[in-house]
Amino acid sequence: MTTDLFAADCKFTPFWWDRVPRPVADGNPLPERVDVAVIGSGYTGLHAALQTARAGRSTLVVDAEDAGWGCSSRNGGQISTSIKPGFDVLARRHGDERARAILLEGQRSLAWVGEFVGAERIDCDFRVVGRFHAAHNAREFAGLARRVAEQPKGLEVATQVVPRAEQRAELDTDAYWGGVVYLRHASIDPARYHQGLLERAVAAGARVVGRCPVTSIENDGGGHLLRTARGAVRARDVVVATNGYTGRLTPWLQRRVIPIGSYMIATEPLPEAQLARLMPRDRIVSDTRRVVFYYRASPDRRRILFGGRVSTGETDPRLSGPLLHAEMVQLFPELAAVRISHSWCGFVAYTFDELMHIGRHDGVHYAMGYCGSGVGMASYLGMRLGLQVVGRKEGATALDGLAFQTRPLYSGNPWFLAPSVRYYQWRDRQGS
Ligand SMILES: Cc1cc2nc3c(=O)[nH]c(=O)nc-3n(C[C@H](O)[C@H](O)[C@H](O)COP(=O)(O)OP(=O)(O)OC[C@H]3O[C@@H](n4cnc5c(N)ncnc54)[C@H](O)[C@@H]3O)c2cc1C
Repeated sequence: MTTDLFAADCKFTPFWWDRVPRPVADGNPLPERVDVAVIGSGYTGLHAALQTARAGRSTLVVDAEDAGWGCSSRNGGQISTSIKPGFDVLARRHGDERARAILLEGQRSLAWVGEFVGAERIDCDFRVVGRFHAAHNAREFAGLARRVAEQPKGLEVATQVVPRAEQRAELDTDAYWGGVVYLRHASIDPARYHQGLLERAVAAGARVVGRCPVTSIENDGGGHLLRTARGAVRARDVVVATNGYTGRLTPWLQRRVIPIGSYMIATEPLPEAQLARLMPRDRIVSDTRRVVFYYRASPDRRRILFGGRVSTGETDPRLSGPLLHAEMVQLFPELAAVRISHSWCGFVAYTFDELMHIGRHDGVHYAMGYCGSGVGMASYLGMRLGLQVVGRKEGATALDGLAFQTRPLYSGNPWFLAPSVRYYQWRDRQGS
C-alpha cells in the first residue's frame, strides 16, 4: 500500500468534522416518560423530532454514538431527487399513477431542502450548482441523452446534454463520453446542515442525547418501554431512524435494509486556479458506472472530495484512501502527487426494491432505506414522518404503504454484497 499518499497529519475522520466537531454529549439523566422517542440523530431522526417538538410533544432523540455521528455528517453533500428506479420500472411494479407520484415526491424532496434551509436561515453552503452525470462509455451517453429527450410528461426536470466535445466546460478530463447536467441538483456542507438542524430541534424543545444506545423496545400497553445504556424511558410514540446502522434492536427492519459502506477522501488544498480549471462550474459530479463514483469541490473550492466504493467487501479507510486516490488520478492525472488529508467511510442502507420506505411496524414508526441518496430524502421523509406521528394529514407521502420487502435467509448480513460488487465492477470495466 502507498502510505505516502497520506498527508503526515491525515485524519481518518470526515473532512466535515474539522469545521463542525461532534457535539458534546448531554450527560443529564434521561426523562422517565416522553411523548415521542426518536432513535437515531441523523437527518431522519432530527427532522421527525423537529416536527413533533414544534407540535408541542415532549421529544427525546437518542443516538448510540455522538449526535449526527452516522451518515448525516459523513456524506458527500450532493442533493438529488433520490429515486433510483425510473418511471417504466416503477409503473410496471406499482401502476402509472403511483409511479408518477413517487417520482414527484423525489422532486419535491430536492426543492424542499432548499426551502427548509432558506426558511430556517441555516448557514450551510447550500448551493444549486447542478450535477454533471458523466457517461463512462458511448452507449451510456446515448442512453442518457435519449432518456432526457423522452422524459415522461409532467415529470420533466431541467437538464442540459453535454456532448464529449464540450465536456471540458464542465470538467477538465477526457475520461468520459459526455454527460447530462441536472440543473436543479444542489450541494451542501452536510455537517453544518446537520448542526443547524440540531440547533433548530433543540430550540423547538427536543432533547438530543448522544452515547445512549437503545437496547430494547417493548410494547407497553398504550406505549413503549425503551431500555437504553443510560436507563429506561417510556414513550407513547417511537420513531426508528437508524438507516444503515439498523441492527438487532429492530430485527424486522434489519431484515429489510442492506448496509453498504461508502468511502470518501479529501485532498490537501489545491491552488485555487487549478481547481477552477478542473471543475470550472462547481458542479457536483457522478458517473454512470454501476459501482458509482461521486465527487465535488469542497465549499471553499480548495479541495476535491472524492467518494465511491473501491473494494468488494467492507474495508478500512486506511486501505480505501489510496484506492479512491487512484480512481481520482484516472480522471485527473495531474493529481497523482496530491496527498490525502482525510479518509473516512459510513454505512448507507440499500433496499431490495431500491426505494426508501416509511411506515409503521408493531406500533413503531420508521423511515429508512435511502439507497445512498438520503441528504434530501432523509430530511424530507423525516419531516413527513414527524407529521404522521402527530396525526397531521400533511404527513402523507406517495411511499406510504409500499410493501417493504426482504428475502428468504436474509437477516441483515449482506453475504451477497462482495460477489455482486465484483460482478458490477467487472461489467463496468467491460463497458457494458
Ligand atoms: C460516505 C458517504 C457519502 C454519502 N454521500 C451522499 C451524498 O452525496 N448525497 C446523498 O443524498 N446521500 C449521501 N449519503 C447517504 C446519506 O448521508 C444518508 O442517506 C443519510 O444521511 C441518512 O440519514 P439518516 O438520518 O437516516 O441516518 P444516519 O445519519 O446514518 O443516522 C443513523 C443513526 O442511528 C444511530 N443508531 C443506530 N442504532 C442505534 C441504537 N440502537 N440506539 C441509538 N442510536 C442508534 C447511529 O449511531 C446513527 O447516528 C452518503 C453516505 C456516506 C456514508
